[in-house]
Amino acid sequence: MMYKGLIDLDPEIIRLSQAAQNRAAYLFDAIDATAEYNALKVQKAFADHRVGAAHLSGSTGYGYDDRGRDTLDQVFAAAFDAEDALVRHSFVSGTHAIATALFGLLRPGDRLLSLTGAPYDTLEEVIGLRGEGNGSLKDFGIRYAQTELKDGFIDLEAAARMAPEAKVAYIQRSRGYSLRRAFTAEEIGQAVRAVKDANPDMIVLVDNCYGEFVQPVEPTGAGADLLAGSLIKNPGGGIARTGGYIAGRRELVELCAQRLTSPGMGREVGCSLDELRWMYQGLFFAPTVVASALKTAVFAASLFELMGYEVSPRFCEDRADIIQAVILRDSGKLLRFCEGIQRGSPVDSMVRPEPWDMPGYGCQVVMAAGTFTLGASIELSADAPMREPYAAYMQGGLTYPAGKLGVMMAADRLLQKR
Ligand SMILES: *Cc1c(COP(=O)(O)O)cnc(C)c1O
Repeated sequence: MMYKGLIDLDPEIIRLSQAAQNRAAYLFDAIDATAEYNALKVQKAFADHRVGAAHLSGSTGYGYDDRGRDTLDQVFAAAFDAEDALVRHSFVSGTHAIATALFGLLRPGDRLLSLTGAPYDTLEEVIGLRGEGNGSLKDFGIRYAQTELKDGFIDLEAAARMAPEAKVAYIQRSRGYSLRRAFTAEEIGQAVRAVKDANPDMIVLVDNCYGEFVQPVEPTGAGADLLAGSLIKNPGGGIARTGGYIAGRRELVELCAQRLTSPGMGREVGCSLDELRWMYQGLFFAPTVVASALKTAVFAASLFELMGYEVSPRFCEDRADIIQAVILRDSGKLLRFCEGIQRGSPVDSMVRPEPWDMPGYGCQVVMAAGTFTLGASIELSADAPMREPYAAYMQGGLTYPAGKLGVMMAADRLLQKR
């Protein structure tokens, strides 16, 4: 037995895992094919923009004439089917990149329209749905409305009806901490056409977190105007140490740059310190790392289904993000699941995750993240809000063997009732 003498796992888990992998293995070829296509796209972007060794070392101070930074923006743009991009280590997270885009695009009196129901938890305070006087969009007189999903899909009729009143339409591609589907680039393209038919000036902004490189095309390639996301998720490839990106139409990216630094200075400033090498290298790795994360998710769905748990998506469903939800319906099981993931991680395998009041979230959250980069969720990790139905949202896996092992440890921990 391969695991004997290396890892202590219940023989039942080893048996079920073999069955789970056998049943899901036919899906791995398609994942690899997408990774290969996206890797070629990234390689072409590097070559077309003549990335050289000099681009990898960064600047200090104001960061004037930082060729490495400016070239990275163009390389990202090409890899994201976009005209332009703003890729910065100084975006502290995905929320910061999305907030920068929202504040960059919207002005007092404008309306933001979410087409995918309630947005991700951390955006509630950005929009002003929670908290007061903190400098939210609402504090600046920017109004908000949302259309609800209909049978799990964007309600195109409601979207078209509301579009004339709004300036920016917002689409969250990934499921986030909810049990709905993730939206494919093609579905996002349909929503773009629906709102633009009703309001040709509409700007469509996509929260692209966890969706990058899952498909051969990004939402910008399907008509979206702007994307935003985090570099400690998919597009950082587990190598970027921090940061975020915005990509899309040039004049919109320009507006976001004015907001990120300061009006007038925009993208001309912002030194890259020593982060460029990691951002370039991370982008290079990203397509295959995303493939490892997807295989880990498919394996997990297959295994936990065999163990009798409800999962979303099912192992055989098409995917548009890397998140796998496992519905445990019990707070104790949820904690044990996260303990198992943590135990199967390369860093901090000896610590036990505890629920805490994480900044930006409305309820306690438990997180398992034994990661090289703090909080990086392209690395195997699980997070779960401590609320019904006690679902664990797991994602990541820098390599398939490591991801698979972490999932097996979580399954093992669920089996042991201690
Ligand atoms: C991760 C994520 C964000 C941004 O969260 P950060 O932790 O600030 O990077 C936004 N939307 C979705 C759907 C996400 O998954």
